[in-house]
Amino acid sequence: MAASSRSLKKTPTFNPPRLDDFVLTQKLGSGTYATVYKAYKKSGEQREVSAIKCIQKATLNRTSIENLLVEIEILKQIKHEHVVQLLDFRWDNSYIYLIMEYCGGGDLSTFIQARRILPELTVKRFLQQIASALQSLHNHNISHMDLKPQNILLTTGHHPVLKLADFGFAQYLGSNQDFALRGSPLYMAPEMILQHHYDAKVDLWSVGVILYESLFGQPPFASRSFDELTEKIKSDYAIQIPVEPSVSSSCRDLLVSLLQRDPLQRISFEDFFAHQFVDLEHKPSACCVQKATLFFTSAVEEDKKGNVADAIRLYSQAIEYFLPAIYCKHWQDV
Ligand code: ADP
Ligand code: MG
Repeated sequence: MAASSRSLKKTPTFNPPRLDDFVLTQKLGSGTYATVYKAYKKSGEQREVSAIKCIQKATLNRTSIENLLVEIEILKQIKHEHVVQLLDFRWDNSYIYLIMEYCGGGDLSTFIQARRILPELTVKRFLQQIASALQSLHNHNISHMDLKPQNILLTTGHHPVLKLADFGFAQYLGSNQDFALRGSPLYMAPEMILQHHYDAKVDLWSVGVILYESLFGQPPFASRSFDELTEKIKSDYAIQIPVEPSVSSSCRDLLVSLLQRDPLQRISFEDFFAHQFVDLEHKPSACCVQKATLFFTSAVEEDKKGNVADAIRLYSQAIEYFLPAIYCKHWQDV
């Protein structure tokens, strides 16, 4: 009985577009104007995996075409360990295809939801990766404009590296135009919704919301209805930082500095990159062991000479590099 009733159920047809040289397998996600598939390259010894974003030409209006061209331009320019890389792009009569590096760990939104909240150290390591990507974008005069956990991808489920994705809304700075309303209101800076005139600093607000959500399990404007959300966005009260779970003073300071409704009061990009909690200098990387060893060697020399104060200072500096170096090797389970 059960088997026959099951067989009557209609299974959804999987009908991905066809692209020469590639086999499109499972659907990874879909958004406003595109569907993303996991894909394998047909030729070659190894089955190279990639993610292909397929945009149906028929659905493209002028804005979508502009968004798409912006995304292609940006991804082509940026080669950064924390930005999803564009490997190639193609088109045919029906679709435009963005062939991208594959990120198999899902997105940050799913990662947070599965754990409810993340420990402060994990949040710090994730934030360093996001900040380092933003620094590169900032140097290229580009802002993302739609930063949210769904657009931050993870390379694997276990020891993830974060990558910014979905630049469809991004704009080159300096084009100096009033933009249309973009992105998701939960992560959108208030000035984007209320004044419709804004600049790169909207990305810093969104980083604040992502930081808040990672630490406390929901974004600061979490609401049960759209009206409630609009109320919260329109009001001018300062964002309250929950007392539980308690966070370090540098983390709290950064949250408050990012979640300033007035973009002029919000932390600047330079101060954000230099902030004690972001601490880009000590972002885990291959150089950390080298720097730690240099400080350690100098500390031992000063120690031998009896210069205790200098030795302690140098030992402390060595430790500041050793900790991220250890993190690099043995990524903690979260
Ligand atoms: P949209 O503009 O439609 O939101 P996105 O670029 O955000 O498009 O992609 C939609 C979803 O597809 C993402 O949220 C993610 O789940 C999945 N996805 C996108 N790019 C990749 C990738 N490179 N690797 C793995 N999954 C991806
Ligand atoms: Mg998206």
